[in-house]
Parts: sequence; structure tokens; C-alpha cells
Amino acid sequence: MKTLIKAGRVIDPANKIDAVMDILVEDSKISKIAKNIPVKADKVIEAQGKIVMPGLVDMHVHLREPGREDKETIQSGSQAALAGGVTSVLAMPNTSPAIDSKENIKILKTAIQKSAKVNCFICAAITKERLGAELTDIASLKKEGALAISDDGASVDNDDLMLEALKVAKKEGLPVICHSEDKKLTAYGVVNLGFTSTRLGLRGISAESEYKRVERDIELARQTGASIHIAHVSCQESLELIARAKKNKVRVTCESAPHYFTFSEEAVLGYDTNFKMNPPLRSQEDRLAIRKGLSSGLIDVIASDHAPHTENEKDIEFERSEFGVIGLETELAAVVTELIGNSLLDWSGLVMKMSLHPSRILGLNKGTLSVGADADIIVVDPGREWIVRKENFYSKSKNSPFIGRSLKGFVEYTLCQGKVHKWNS
Ligand SMILES: [Zn+2]
Ligand SMILES: [Zn+2]
Repeated sequence: MKTLIKAGRVIDPANKIDAVMDILVEDSKISKIAKNIPVKADKVIEAQGKIVMPGLVDMHVHLREPGREDKETIQSGSQAALAGGVTSVLAMPNTSPAIDSKENIKILKTAIQKSAKVNCFICAAITKERLGAELTDIASLKKEGALAISDDGASVDNDDLMLEALKVAKKEGLPVICHSEDKKLTAYGVVNLGFTSTRLGLRGISAESEYKRVERDIELARQTGASIHIAHVSCQESLELIARAKKNKVRVTCESAPHYFTFSEEAVLGYDTNFKMNPPLRSQEDRLAIRKGLSSGLIDVIASDHAPHTENEKDIEFERSEFGVIGLETELAAVVTELIGNSLLDWSGLVMKMSLHPSRILGLNKGTLSVGADADIIVVDPGREWIVRKENFYSKSKNSPFIGRSLKGFVEYTLCQGKVHKWNS
């Protein structure tokens, strides 16, 4: 099977390419990339005026299977990924049961083989049942295929235990993804501490609860030489700590998510629970700091933190509703609209943050369009505007803060391992 993607603007920063070119895909691999490929293909995609780039690699996704198939399944979540131009996801381990043993990884791998439509990679837990009390057998988790470890949803509170985890992770060559939150400081808050918490009379979550834990995690990474990745950075102080750590050669990378650079805490004034996530939307200054961090290169990765919840868990009082929002189907367009649209990022920068860097952090041979690479490719209409509609989501859950918004940048084709999917609406 030969597929020819013709005359698109090819963006492949790993190979320093930003030029109009053809790409030939044979079966599941990229077989040729050149100015003009005169070949008789089985399928031709006319990509004039379109962006052709590596499929997105989203390193922070909650697929909810096993255990909460009412929120999302591997099948529905990976279908949502495909539609959003995401060809690889890293599945977070806070499922039920948690992915904290070789046996549970095996069960997950079987489910992935059965129903995944994109490449699904596995992040395993740091502690058993993610309770923060006892380390998992990190070496055997790696052997079984885990690409990273994280207790995402929680932080490992015990400093000694986290230190031990980083020592083993370093030995095993596994990155540790840090959900940096001191629950003692979060204190059952539901929105950012400050203007909105006062206005709404709701309990606040301080920025300190995040950056104090970022500070600890960086210190432990410095002591051990382990690689850490700070998930969902939401405030300015965390960024300052990460900038300093990078300067001091600590092995730290970080991510933020589209909601943190699109919205600020004012968005929750209408008590819409689709703006409730953890960490919470912060101040306008924090939002601007995140945008600046993305533009300067300080923030390495954009990930969705796709966190599906059912309507029963979201469409209730603000305080009782679950934290988290979906994002697989809107992340590319959010970045095109907010960052490329405001000249904070160019297309190569987008590919680096949403595909190349996460691939490198996870040790994946993805994020490029090199000859011989897996044919994970997307074709994007950069100028096409579309309105985010609840009824169009492939995700089982609809808890998106982007519903009703007009976004620019539409994924027209997703090729995953060479298999072509076309999207119309
Ligand atoms: Zn988290
Ligand atoms: Zn998460």
C-alpha cells in the first residue's frame, strides 16, 4: 500500500525541514521525502496549502481503562486522539486497579492490543495503589514496558520515599513524572486562592501548594541525578524554579496544558465546572507567564492532561464536582489559535512541544518524518476555523472548557502507522 502526501508544507524540526515537499508512505513507514516524488500511489492526499507534520505525542492522558469505562475506554479515548491528530499517548496509571505491578501492565497491554487506534504507551505508578506508602517494583515495571513512572493525581508526600524512587528510576533510566502538589497546602480547595476564591466564597488552592512541591522534586532530582518531568505547570513561581534548575543542569523538563495558557481564574466566575481542574486556573499574570515560558522554550512540552469525567460527576455543585477536563480533540487547535495566532510559537515550535520533545523524554523513536520512521503523520488546514461542539466529541466524556469557542486549525487527515483517517467536521 502506497500513500503519497503531495505538496504540503512539511514541518520536521528534527531534520530542520520547513519546505513544500512530497512524502511517500509505504505500508506503515515513511519511505521517501523529496521535492517531487513521481510515483503511482494507491492513494494521493493533495496537501497544497496544508501543514504536514508528525502526529502529536501527548504524554499526559487519562484513558480510564481499566475501572472507569463509563468515563472513557481505550477505544473511545484513542478515537478522540486520532481525531485530534494525536497518534501516540502516554496513559496515566491512576486507573482502578492502578498500574502498579507487572500483572496490571500485562492486563492493560492486552486491552491496548485489542482496542487501541493509536500508539498507547504506559506510565506506571511510583507507589503501590498510588498511596504513597510503598514503592512499586520499578525495575520489573520497566521490563514489562512502562516508559515512565508517576503517581499522577497525587504527589509522593514522603521525601525519603520519593528520594528512593528517584534513585531507582535513575538506575533504570526511567523519567519520573511529577504531579507536584502538597495536599496539606491545597487544603480541600477548589479554585485558585485569591480573587476568585474570595469572590465566589469557595476554598482556594494556593500557588504555594504547587511550587513548594516543585522545589522539593527539583532538589531530589539534583541530589540523585534522576530525570524528572513536572506535569501541568500552572503558576509563575514554578516556572522560575524550573528555569533556575535548568541553568544548574538539573535534569528537569516540564509541561503545561492548553487551558493554562488560554484561560485564567476569571473563567470560573460563572461556576462552570468545565473550568475546574487541578492545579486550578490561575491569575492573569500566571497565564501570561505560561505563554512566555512556551515562547521562550522554558516549557518543553504541551500535553492535554485529558481527564474525562461523566456528566453526573461534572454537572453538579462546583465544590463537589470532579477536577479535570478533556483535551485530546482541541489541543492542536488551541495551540494554533492562542500561540501561533499570537506569534508566540511557530509551526516548528509546535511540533517540538507536541511531538518531538515528548518523544525524546519518553525515549520514543517518534516526532520526526525521517525516512524509515513510523508513518504517524497529520495534515492540518492551518486557516480553517471551526466551532467546538459537545456533540462532535469522540471522547465518551464531554467536559471541555473549549465548548462553544471558535478555534483555528483543523486536522484533515491522521495517518497512524500508515493507516489513513479523514476528518470532515
Ligand atoms: Zn496531575
Ligand atoms: Zn493528570
